[in-house]
Amino acid sequence: MVIVQDILVSDDVLEEQFMCNLDACKGACCWEGEFGAPLEDEELPILKKIYKDIKPYLSPAGLAVLKKEGLYTFYEDNQMHGTPLIDGGPCAYMTYNELGMAQCGIEKAYYDGVIDFKKPVSCHLYPIRVEKDDKSDFQALNYDRWDICSAACELGKEKKVRVYEFAKAAILRKYGEAFYEELEAAAEYLNNKTEE
Ligand code: SF4
Repeated sequence: MVIVQDILVSDDVLEEQFMCNLDACKGACCWEGEFGAPLEDEELPILKKIYKDIKPYLSPAGLAVLKKEGLYTFYEDNQMHGTPLIDGGPCAYMTYNELGMAQCGIEKAYYDGVIDFKKPVSCHLYPIRVEKDDKSDFQALNYDRWDICSAACELGKEKKVRVYEFAKAAILRKYGEAFYEELEAAAEYLNNKTEE
C-alpha cells in the first residue's frame, strides 16, 4: 500500500498488469454483476442534464427502465448511487456497437460530439475501484479482480501494461496530473524494487 496525496493506493494497482480485451469479453462488465456502475454525487445532475441528448443512443429496454426507475438508483447494500439495471442484468445505459460488443450509450454520444461527459468516472477507472468515506475523507484505490476480465490480465501481461497505466486517462480526469506523476513514481520505485 502506498499513500499518494492522502489517498491509499493498493500495491496491486501499481504492480498488476491489465488491458481490456473486448474481443474476448465483449464488454461483459456492462451486463454482469449485481449493481449498476457507481455514480459520484456530482454525476447525478449531469445525467439529468444530458438525458435528452443521449436518449437516441439508448436501447428501448434501457429507456423503459430509466423512465420507470429514474436516471439512477440508490443501492442500499453498498450505500451508493449507481446506474439502474435492466431486470438485474445489463446497465440501462448499455447499448451495442456494430460488432455486437457492449458499449456505453453515454460514451457513444460523447464520441459523436453530442455531449462533453464521457461516461461515469467509475466505468472509466475500472478495474480500479474507489473506496471512500465522505465523513472521514478517507479514500482508497483498489484493483477489483473479476473473473470475467481474465483475458485482460493475459493481454496486460503480453503488452506489459500495469493497471494504473491502463487507467491513466481516468486517473488524470479524476485526480489530475500531479497525482498521476506521484503515482507513477511510486510504481516505478515499487516495481524496480521487486525486480532487484
Ligand atoms: S473491464 Fe473486464 S469485462 Fe469490462 S471490458 Fe474490460 S476486460 Fe472486459
